[in-house]
Amino acid sequence: MVNNTITQKLPEFLNRKLIRFCPTCLKPIYGADIEVHRLINSDVNRWQVNFVHYHTYNQFPKHVLILYIDSDMSARGQEVSDFIKLEEK
Ligand SMILES: [Zn+2]
Repeated sequence: MVNNTITQKLPEFLNRKLIRFCPTCLKPIYGADIEVHRLINSDVNRWQVNFVHYHTYNQFPKHVLILYIDSDMSARGQEVSDFIKLEEK
C-alpha cells in the first residue's frame, strides 16, 4: 500500500530542494525553478532530462543555465550560455 501522505508531500519538499547555484550569477536554483511537479508528473521514460533555465539575477544579463536532471531530481551536470535567441510566431 502506498503511503499517500508521503507521496503528496514529496513534490512540496522537492520544490524547496537546492539543486545548484548558477555558476554565472550565483542564483540558487531550487526545485520550484525547474518545475519538479511537471517533471515528476511527465511521462519521461528516459532520464536524465535537459532543463533550460533562462534567468537574470544579481544584475547579470539574461543567460541560460542548462541542467542535466536525473530521476531523483539532482543535477548531474550543467552548462551556461550567454548566446540565446528566442523566436515566437
Ligand atoms: Zn545565472
